[in-house]
Amino acid sequence: MESFIPETLHAFLPNVIQLFYLGAIILFILGLKRLSSPATARSGNRLASLGMLVGVVVTLLDREIISFEYILAGIVIGSLIGAVVAKKVEMTSMPELVALFNGFGGIASALVALGAWFRMTDAVLPVADLLIMGLSVLIGGVTFTGSLIAFGKLNGMLKGNAVIFPAQNVLNIVLLGVAVAATGWLVAQPLEVAPVLIVSGIAVLLGVLFVIRIGGADMPVVISLLNSLSGVAASFAGFVIDNNLLIVSGALVGAAGLILTNIMCKSMNRSLTSVLFARFGGSGAASAAGDTGDKSIREVHAADVAVMTAYAKRVVVVPGYGLAVAQAQHVIREVADLLQKKGVDVRYGIHPVAGRMPGHMNVLLAEANVPYSQLYDMEEINEEFPITDVVLVIGANDVVNPQAKTNPGSPIYGMPVLDVEEAKHVVVFKRSMNPGYAGIENDLFYNENTYMYFGDAKGTIEDLIRAVKEL
Ligand code: NDP
Repeated sequence: MESFIPETLHAFLPNVIQLFYLGAIILFILGLKRLSSPATARSGNRLASLGMLVGVVVTLLDREIISFEYILAGIVIGSLIGAVVAKKVEMTSMPELVALFNGFGGIASALVALGAWFRMTDAVLPVADLLIMGLSVLIGGVTFTGSLIAFGKLNGMLKGNAVIFPAQNVLNIVLLGVAVAATGWLVAQPLEVAPVLIVSGIAVLLGVLFVIRIGGADMPVVISLLNSLSGVAASFAGFVIDNNLLIVSGALVGAAGLILTNIMCKSMNRSLTSVLFARFGGSGAASAAGDTGDKSIREVHAADVAVMTAYAKRVVVVPGYGLAVAQAQHVIREVADLLQKKGVDVRYGIHPVAGRMPGHMNVLLAEANVPYSQLYDMEEINEEFPITDVVLVIGANDVVNPQAKTNPGSPIYGMPVLDVEEAKHVVVFKRSMNPGYAGIENDLFYNENTYMYFGDAKGTIEDLIRAVKEL
């Protein structure tokens, strides 16, 4: 393929390319930095996208390894799929989409490494490159199938609970050992097909085996871990094809994902090893959904909630996954505006694993232009509940379940939760008595100061708006 670059510039080209790569890396880092605050996140996203554009264009001009027709065809087909998916995807399906992105990132890195292996004839790569090639295939493959399982669990195609069978950990560790040994074989005999097939086969199997055994409220940890692994695989693929941009951007994703994994573990009060190798929570026998005994609930309607909130001094809104399902972020903002006009202090309490992806609630509330100053994280808002008159729990369940503090047999025992029951009144907006993602009963619903307001959150909140206006 002919190069677009004039002959005279060829000598400078490698340095110019590296300079552009450096520019792209700086844009990624600045973008990541800005993503750390909701106020600057949008501009951070734009900066990182610009960095990616620079990276793609420069790589296309630099490499002359494949005809531009194929690349253009790939870009057109990929962009079409991306545009249709982005247009069609519901906000509530975003976590599944992110899981798929992680998986595709993993398989892309594995394929890049496999491509480098296929192109290798007599000119065998150095030992370090071969080692990294094997690891890239292994980690990329695990990320691919692991993310597909996470995708299935998140969108309900697969059951969300952990699938555990005898000697599962032993099997996983043996398989991992065989894959590492096969990587050694690949390094020793790079032109043999067998080790490549073994590493690839075990990688895709391990992804499935690792993720099926993780379930319930532990899923946020595995999703951020898979995100990190997709970055590590990309970084390794960068070493294989000697591309600095891929090495650094993969490392950034890997590190960011690992930091997030750590934050998620802390939020769940779980160690990474217990998430990966232990069963989710305790026996859970006494706390399974449906075990309601003869406890009773108190049901309320729009007019009751309107009176409670309009005459309150402080109201805290606790959003959860159901808010996203109902797309009730705009109407809840309207309620907050109405109450604030009446002099009520309205705040939002955000649990770090509320919803189905890290930052889910922040994204939703930002969509409805809820001021950032009204968002409080778990530690801050927990101090406020004893002086709060009414808490509106909108489609949240696991993140407000007191069993996490009171029942050592509960699967979520030890997970920090929002102490909503310490407020004077708690109103729970949900459609039924069904459990949340972790599949366990919630004692909060039976408390003396808890009122259940049943229905789709958008509909019930719209009724609440009318009732507040009528007061
Ligand atoms: P939960 O999944 O615990 O509960 C959501 C509640 O919303 C359900 O009880 C449901 O009850 C209700 N709901 C659903 N649809 C509607 C609707 N249209 N209107 C009103 N209510 C509705 O959500 P939380 O946010 O409290 O907790 C998140 C859970 O997800 C945790 O267990 C967490 O570990 C897990 N998770 C989190 C991830 C993350 O990164 N944030 C990733 C993966 C899992 P009903 O059906 O009766 O309406």
